[in-house]
Amino acid sequence: MRHGALQKVHILGGGVAGLACAYYLKQKSPHIKTIVYEAAPHAGGRAFSRYDKEWDMELDNATHGILGANREVRRFYRGRENVCLIPFYDFAEQKLSYNPLRFVRHILLSVFNTAAEKIDRHCLWTIAAALFPYTPLQTRLFYSCNNLTPDLVDSFLPFVDELKTGWRVKRAEGKDKIEKLVFNQGEITVGSDEKIISALDSRAYHKIFGGEVFEYNRIVNVFYHVSTRLWLPGEKGVLGLVNAQADWAFVNKNTLAVTISNFQGKIGNKEEFARRIWLEINALRNRTPFFLPAYRVRDYKFATIAQDEKNNAKRPRNCRTEYANMMLAGDWTLKNYPCCLNGAVLSARRAVKAVL
Ligand SMILES: Cc1cc2nc3c(=O)[nH]c(=O)nc-3n(C[C@H](O)[C@H](O)[C@H](O)COP(=O)(O)OP(=O)(O)OC[C@H]3O[C@@H](n4cnc5c(N)ncnc54)[C@H](O)[C@@H]3O)c2cc1C
Repeated sequence: MRHGALQKVHILGGGVAGLACAYYLKQKSPHIKTIVYEAAPHAGGRAFSRYDKEWDMELDNATHGILGANREVRRFYRGRENVCLIPFYDFAEQKLSYNPLRFVRHILLSVFNTAAEKIDRHCLWTIAAALFPYTPLQTRLFYSCNNLTPDLVDSFLPFVDELKTGWRVKRAEGKDKIEKLVFNQGEITVGSDEKIISALDSRAYHKIFGGEVFEYNRIVNVFYHVSTRLWLPGEKGVLGLVNAQADWAFVNKNTLAVTISNFQGKIGNKEEFARRIWLEINALRNRTPFFLPAYRVRDYKFATIAQDEKNNAKRPRNCRTEYANMMLAGDWTLKNYPCCLNGAVLSARRAVKAVL
């Protein structure tokens, strides 16, 4: 297609990948109309924050970490909280350590949400190369502090001409080209000067367009809200937890967020679950808690695809689809790359390049 002839791009899915597509399209040509169709009532997909009425504060759906080397997403992320040398507390040894090399498996588990020994070797190479030369600038960890929507999602909105929330795409019609998209709220005809980018998660994509089925890994986050300012050993906002039930703890004033990557257990009763983790965290603070504070358990059974050899082999080779007028974006579409915010943004840049 001749440059400049493209009038409109229909973006399916308003997660970070879909929103980033709008940004890259506007960079290429401000005249292209960008329309994002999102099934949920808000944008952000798997990364957003929302006002919690009871706690009277904005709360992330899940704490997100961004590495210094994740330059593509850092261009959009306005949050400042970061740590250079992450402290780790090993429950087996009952001591604090600042040596990340001792905890490489722990770090890999969180980066890939997959047990270290199962991670696809191409994915491992990608991250090893991305972090080179392993300076603090590269390995520094930025982490969200209940600010994902204002500090990340909102950065993309000026580039979205129309954000249609509550619009769930149900099916597409057309043979080599998609001619019609059918949503729960109506239908649209795709003109010859228009294109589509699917930035759906892999499960939604499979349901509508077919293709591979991926295995997913789970992530559980527990948030606690207390009336006083919290602290963690190491006196930083982040603490890696080794040989423990939880993997990471993040403090933000009077909120504590705990992350469990690749969760394999059973949650059962949420209160009991939250209490078990709270007792563990307090044990390392040498505190005996008298009560369980207000808590939220956020359980993502489909947090990311498992990034093992089997799943990575199934990921698309490029962003083209069987339809000439539709490209692919989304964290799962970038073969050999971790399923993360940076991958979502990079996949959007690739899809836009192909669409023009
Ligand atoms: C608990 C948790 C913790 C995480 N931690 C980190 C982290 O620390 N660091 C990191 O970099 N990444 C992390 N991730 C991964 C990161 O959130 C994702 O990689 C990223 O958000 C993926 O963006 P995406 O746009 O590709 O997909 P999604 O965010 O899944 O976007 C897809 C969008 O499509 C929409 N959709 C689905 N079906 C339809 C339909 N039929 N019609 C219209 N819209 C539809 C969905 O509602 C969604 O908004 C975490 C994810 C989870 C769940």
